Amino acid sequence: MLVQICVTVLTTALLVAAACYTESPPEQRWWAGGNVVTCVGLALSSMVTLPVLIHGVLGYGVIALGLGLVLRGLRVHCSATLSWTFIAALVGIALLIPAYFTLVAPSLRARLCFSGFYFAILNWMCAVVVARHGVWRVSGISLAGFILLGLALFLRGVHMLLHTDPADTTSSLVMGLSTLAIPLAQICIAFGLIQMVMWRYAERLRRLSTLDALTGALNRAGLEIQGKRVGLRALRAARSLAVIMIDVDNFKVINDTHGHPVGDEVLRHLARLVKLELRPHDLLARFGGEEFVLVLDGVNLAAALNVAERLRARIESEVVELDNLSVRYTASMGVVCSDEHSYDLIRLISAGDAAMYDAKRAGRNKVIAV
Ligand code: GH3
Ligand code: MG
Ligand code: MG
Repeated sequence: MLVQICVTVLTTALLVAAACYTESPPEQRWWAGGNVVTCVGLALSSMVTLPVLIHGVLGYGVIALGLGLVLRGLRVHCSATLSWTFIAALVGIALLIPAYFTLVAPSLRARLCFSGFYFAILNWMCAVVVARHGVWRVSGISLAGFILLGLALFLRGVHMLLHTDPADTTSSLVMGLSTLAIPLAQICIAFGLIQMVMWRYAERLRRLSTLDALTGALNRAGLEIQGKRVGLRALRAARSLAVIMIDVDNFKVINDTHGHPVGDEVLRHLARLVKLELRPHDLLARFGGEEFVLVLDGVNLAAALNVAERLRARIESEVVELDNLSVRYTASMGVVCSDEHSYDLIRLISAGDAAMYDAKRAGRNKVIAV
């Protein structure tokens, strides 16, 4: 019992501490709040010296509220929500049925059976939401925790239903196992929930550090990391690796004539157009202000030239619309391939850059391959 109380308090404190960080996502506050409320409910229902309506009825309602808040947090984490009406219904059931077994047909055994089964179901509802989350590497531990906790509570319910004799050894084995399983499940749930949020943070950080905020293309750091991977993969499989350098023509004039917001829209537009040409394993990176790099795996020089020419023609024919303004732009491109150079991405990019400047010198809106 003492271990169970310590584990409950410690896991709750862990979730509350994690939720106190100002940037913490809302679900973490629901989980912390839900655990605090559940603790209050557990404390109320264990104080048997209080009137039965408090420990035998209100306590269950408060525990159900706590679990409802945890369930809401899980739904919020999965970009959904849980209505207050649903939570109120969960609490209502947890109040009405024990109230019936207290006021109308008094039975401690029936109340304990109900609490075992009902709280098992609520924990399994949490398990279902976590399972739907789908990232097993991340949510596996909390999923195991919710299933285990539900199972332990369910077995307690079955035990209350079937065994009235306290000396029955099978029933005491079930009780002993469930007493061990409950704190273990609570630890799994608390760590699993924190792990789920940590994974979100890590994912957000990865995006912030490797993607360009304006266009959603990779930034230089992202290109370095992913480019190495794509280059190595192509080299090992002896596939050609093509690089296309793209630079918007006279971009400064667009900025100076229409303003920076229009210039920004042109960059977004270009990134969108190029992404339409990409296959899942190709890379698009913003290399500088209005300069982009396209890395194509398994594409030789002739095919890359085709892609670049198709892109150049598409860009020339498109109109960017912003605030009743229509802007046209063109781009110059340099195309290189590992068959003529090497698989070293830095060398390919500098050769592509030189080809792109040749295209500028040749009058812009051109594709040149070297
Ligand atoms: P060229 O045809 O020779 O490439 O000429 P250019 O005008 O496109 O090239 P230049 O290097 O002279 O000018 C690039 C401009 O791009 C200058 C800079 O202010 C602008 N720029 C860089 N980053 C951004 C950005 O994020 N948004 C906007 N709107 N402009 C940017
Ligand atoms: Mg330019
Ligand atoms: Mg430039």
